[in-house]
Amino acid sequence: MAERTPWSLSSALRGMFAKKTIDDDTWDDLETALITADFGPDLTEAMVDDLRSKVERYRTTDPADLQRMLRETLEERLSKLDPTLKLSERPAIVLVVGVNGVGKTTTIGKFAKFLRTYDRTVIVGAADTFRAAAVEQLATWVERAGAQIVRPQQQGQDPASVAFQTVERAKTEGIEIVLIDTAGRLQTKGGLMDELSKIKRVVEKQAPISEVLLVLDATTGQNGLAQAEAFIEHAGVTGLVLTKLDGSAKGGFVLAVQEKTGIPIKLVGQGEGINDLTGFTPHVFAQQLIG
Ligand code: GDP
Repeated sequence: MAERTPWSLSSALRGMFAKKTIDDDTWDDLETALITADFGPDLTEAMVDDLRSKVERYRTTDPADLQRMLRETLEERLSKLDPTLKLSERPAIVLVVGVNGVGKTTTIGKFAKFLRTYDRTVIVGAADTFRAAAVEQLATWVERAGAQIVRPQQQGQDPASVAFQTVERAKTEGIEIVLIDTAGRLQTKGGLMDELSKIKRVVEKQAPISEVLLVLDATTGQNGLAQAEAFIEHAGVTGLVLTKLDGSAKGGFVLAVQEKTGIPIKLVGQGEGINDLTGFTPHVFAQQLIG
C-alpha cells in the first residue's frame, strides 16, 4: 500500500518530524507544510493553534509527539461525519454527478467493479447522453466490471428517460444497485441543474434515491470545489468521491473539503486502474498522510 500513496507526508512535514526537538521554527514549518498540502488557510490556522496548545499542555518537546497529535487531530476531525455508503434499498439508486474531467466515468466503472467484488448485481444508466464517446468509454468500463448498462437509444435522448429505463430494468430483473452517470457540462450550468432535477424527479417516482455522489478531482483542490458548488447547492449531494489522490501532494484537501461542505467523503480514487477505488476510512487515511 505504501508505494501507492505518494500524496502522503509532504517533504516539509517529514523534515519537521525528523528534527531533534520542537522549537520556534516548528510552528512556521508546520503552517507551511499544511498550506502546501492544501488544508487551506482557515483549517491550517485552527490546526496549528490546536496543536500548539496541546504541545504546551503536555509539555513535550518531542517531534514524534507532535506527529502523533497531528495524526489524531486529523482522524478526529475526519471522523465527525459518517463515511458509510447507504445502499440497503433494493434497488439502491446512486446518482453520480460532477464536472467533466474529474474522473466521473472512471469512478463509475471502478465503483461497479467494487460492488461486483462484493457480489452485488449492478446496472449503469448512461444518462450523459450528449457525449457519444463518453457513453462508449463508460460501456467499456462497465463491461470490464461485469455489470450491465442502459445506453441512450440516440444521441441527446432525454437523460431522465435513460435513468427511468435503467431503474425499470433493475426492478424487473431484480438488479440490486443502479448507478446513474450524469452530464458535467459546466458551461450550461442552469440547464445542467435543471437536467439533474428532472432526473431526480423522475427516478424518485419509481424508488427512493439512496445516494447522490459528487466526484471531485483532488489535484484541483479548492478551485475544483468552487466549480462544484452548484452541485452542492442544487443536487442534494449525500457523499463525496475524491479522485486522483494518488498523484496529488494535496492530501489535506480531504479534510478541507469535508469541513467546508459538511458532506462526508465516501469513496477515494487512487489510480487509473479498475481496482483503484476504496471506501474512506479516517483512521487509515490519517495514518497514510501523517505516518
Ligand atoms: P470524466 O470526464 O469526469 O468522466 O473523467 P474520466 O473518467 O474520463 O477521467 C479523466 C481522466 O482522469 C482519465 O485520464 C482517468 O484515467 C483519470 N483518472 C480518473 N480517476 C483517477 C484516479 O483516481 N487517479 C488517477 N491518477 N487518474 C484518474
